[in-house]
Amino acid sequence: MVEVTIRDLTSRVSLVGTYYGDVELNMVYVKDSGVLLDTSTSSIIEDVVKVIGLPKVAIITHPHEDHAGGSGYLASRGVRVIAHEAARGFLYNNVINVDSFFSLKYRSCFTPEFTESFIRDFRSKVGSPVVHESFRGMLNLNGVKCIEAFGHTSGTVVCIVDDVMFTSDAVQGLGIRGLSTTDSIPQVSSIDDYLQTLNTLKSIKVKMLVPGHNYLPFSKRVLEGNEVEEFIEASIEAMNRLLGIAKVLLSERPLTICEFADNLIHEYGVKRSLYPQALITANAIIRFYKRRRLLRIIKEGDVELYSIK
Ligand SMILES: [Zn+2]
Repeated sequence: MVEVTIRDLTSRVSLVGTYYGDVELNMVYVKDSGVLLDTSTSSIIEDVVKVIGLPKVAIITHPHEDHAGGSGYLASRGVRVIAHEAARGFLYNNVINVDSFFSLKYRSCFTPEFTESFIRDFRSKVGSPVVHESFRGMLNLNGVKCIEAFGHTSGTVVCIVDDVMFTSDAVQGLGIRGLSTTDSIPQVSSIDDYLQTLNTLKSIKVKMLVPGHNYLPFSKRVLEGNEVEEFIEASIEAMNRLLGIAKVLLSERPLTICEFADNLIHEYGVKRSLYPQALITANAIIRFYKRRRLLRIIKEGDVELYSIK
């Protein structure tokens, strides 16, 4: 059993705090309408329901295992599950969803044993996801407003209720740092979308922000007042820092995607070996520079080397 705590943020909005391994995991629950934002994993959700009771509706912010994994269990107990149409598309086919998270072309960076166990772990945590309804653009449901906030993934949404904004993984500050198995750079699949999302969210004024995990620089479950804007600003700075590091690395010599991702995380300060999600950000940076015609690609057989022109 994993620890689940509830904290009232407003008269009807609560933070549901739990843990995903050594990382904090946050959800938001709107008591009067029974709307749960995010669903944790296929196993954690059972402990969540024991504490908060059965919600009426669950809204998934994006198709990752620690946010969408509880949807199958909730659906089996009669809860209506809603997600963005893109997130629903990824979740509809679990093989496709794993490939969207751990692309086939990144698997050459790891041993077959590691790849196999990583995929097995993702699949078990995401379970058999169910999405009953989807939307695009905006969702308005019993005072909960969800808007598109792509960048972390396509189909990521941010939800606002009362004066509380639940950003899940749409805003990641400096990343998660200092933990042996989870130390990571921000995980972003489109840099342009992510920066656009951050700029949009900056203009929305709220009293409180709940991130999906303990992202630095605040590393706490609820950010209040000035911390909201500082967190979004820190997220923009972190991305600019990653882009700067990438430019230097790619100027030194042509690199494979594996070498580039490995160097990128270590220059950023991550203290663990290369992990699959880092490849998502590394590839997004490659595409960012490619779109700006700054990238040189050297191709030989199935291998591509990248450098900055
Ligand atoms: Zn995520």
